[in-house]
Amino acid sequence: MMLSGAARLAGVMGWPVAHSRSPRLHGFWLRQHGIDGAYVPLAVRPENLPLALGALSVLGFAGCNLTIPHKEAALDLVDEITPLAARIGAINTVIVKADGTLCGDNTDAYGFIENLRGSVAGFDPAAGPAVVLGAGGAARAVCAGLIEAGATEICLLNRTQERAEIVARDLGAALRVEPWSGRGAALQGAALLVNTTSLGMTGQAALDIDLAALPLAAVVNDLVYSPLTTALLGAAAERGNITVGGLGMLLHQARPGFAAWFGVEPDVTPALHNFVAGM
Ligand code: NAP
Repeated sequence: MMLSGAARLAGVMGWPVAHSRSPRLHGFWLRQHGIDGAYVPLAVRPENLPLALGALSVLGFAGCNLTIPHKEAALDLVDEITPLAARIGAINTVIVKADGTLCGDNTDAYGFIENLRGSVAGFDPAAGPAVVLGAGGAARAVCAGLIEAGATEICLLNRTQERAEIVARDLGAALRVEPWSGRGAALQGAALLVNTTSLGMTGQAALDIDLAALPLAAVVNDLVYSPLTTALLGAAAERGNITVGGLGMLLHQARPGFAAWFGVEPDVTPALHNFVAGM
């Protein structure tokens, strides 16, 4: 669609940013809905983040997404933060308010839960214990999302155990930390297994975990989306578990930002999934 002088603007700030799938994703929705708007990659060096965020309202942007390495640094650079973003300790979505001030939100927790609900009919995060592997930014969003959705029992395991203990301290009583070496045994009785480590990503080692103790009724969700089907998802599907890939979370986390910037509630469809996967 041709842009008019009144086009709405948004984008994604990252360094580097060329790998980001967000311009492709938002571009799909902009075309689908015939919106007079653009979503552009914004290559912003870490030292320029304060300047770049400050320029959003000056340049008439409706807001932006933030990706590596800006998600934590931005916490101190916006005017207000949603309680969920404060709990997670990172911002991935910035909205420029009518008065030009910036509101920082984190939509990863929402994207994670929406992807599970959209992929597994009747999925209830409160129905049983969850096992979460990892303790980085993604793990914090996943645990916060599970707690918001009613989960009361989350077992968190990370190679660097102290990092998991900090997440548990920050996010509350639903979390229990176990040593990384006990990850196989921790699967006993679990209703959900989530890999939030970077293990299994293209170019990284596979996640080494024995699934024998995992109930066959458990759902296995890998946040890694490159490749779309990781070795973990392949092994889980082979033994009969329901599996959920990571790309859907990326698609769902983008919905609140798009709605705020462009005024249309977008849908996650198989066509969108295929289009973004085909990058
Ligand atoms: P991060 O903050 O860098 O955390 C990386 C995690 O992986 C840490 O827990 C780290 O453990 C663990 N890890 C790395 N190498 C390991 C190894 N060799 N053995 C065991 N554990 C290892 O990254 P993040 O932002 O949380 O992202 C993690 C993954 O989630 C990435 O693959 C990312 O692409 C994916 N992700 C997906 C979505 C989505 O929408 N689907 C959203 C966010 C993130 P230590 O603490 O011991 O280093």
